[in-house]
Amino acid sequence: MKRMISFFLAISLFLYGCSAQNTVKTQNKKIVVTIFPIYDWVMNIAGDTSENFDITLLMDQGSDLHNFQPSAQDIITIKNSDMFIYVGGESDEWLDDIVAELPETTEVVCLMDVLSTRMKEEELKEGMTSEEEEKEETEYDEHIWLSLTNAKLSCEAIAEAMEKIGDAEAFKANVKAYTDQLDQLDEQFKETVEKGTKNTLIFGDRFPFLYMVSDYGLDYYAAFQGCSAETEASFETIRFLAGKMDELDMHYILTIDGSDQKIAETIVENTVNKNAQILMMQSMQFVTPDDQISYIDCMKENQKILEKVLE
Ligand SMILES: [Zn+2]
Repeated sequence: MKRMISFFLAISLFLYGCSAQNTVKTQNKKIVVTIFPIYDWVMNIAGDTSENFDITLLMDQGSDLHNFQPSAQDIITIKNSDMFIYVGGESDEWLDDIVAELPETTEVVCLMDVLSTRMKEEELKEGMTSEEEEKEETEYDEHIWLSLTNAKLSCEAIAEAMEKIGDAEAFKANVKAYTDQLDQLDEQFKETVEKGTKNTLIFGDRFPFLYMVSDYGLDYYAAFQGCSAETEASFETIRFLAGKMDELDMHYILTIDGSDQKIAETIVENTVNKNAQILMMQSMQFVTPDDQISYIDCMKENQKILEKVLE
């Protein structure tokens, strides 16, 4: 009997220990996000209250969302979150079962649902090297963050969901201040496009900027559709894009972050004058908080590049 009592005592002490530890740990609400732009938005919306949250970026090792391999710990982190925010496109299919099993108390924000009326299907444009593997169905482009309008709508939806787990007044003020900055930058993009003499972008690379060109009524040509898994552009693609560079008198050809620029170099070599410069647009697919750069910084860089290309 004595042994029984000490056994129960041990068990209850053990349980007490666990729950005491848990109360300390769960003081901070846990927000888990998949990609860097969402992380930066949440930090801005939380503002001064961010110390009341544990904000976890899953893709924090510079791996893009197309190639991300979740660890067992990542899945536990999502399951233990108070709030989970993700894009919800083709590359996030691994999350379907996990999200379906989250408890009702977890606030879930799927940005492609928030932006459902603005979603665009990936385009196979003239001159592109298509993927060898035929896709069974058309997919929506998942690079939603490369549109300032999408960013604004996403931030407003995230702030509204965050109000359920934190200081609603602070979030309302913070999201207003932040989306004002997004609006200002959006105006700068519009002015850039109006002032420009050109209206077309040529990417000797992958093309995650569909939402950006569509926001500002720009035309584009690219070597690949979205972030195609293909790495070699066909000869037809090189010849077609070099021809467009000549025809439109383009002084600049674009690549994206993470590119080795070989395709762009080959296109320039195949133009008549062979003197176009290569400029890089920032798609933020490899940015991490360690880079000490913000979503708005990256979009400002892109606006400066547009100024040059469209001049
Ligand atoms: Zn991509």
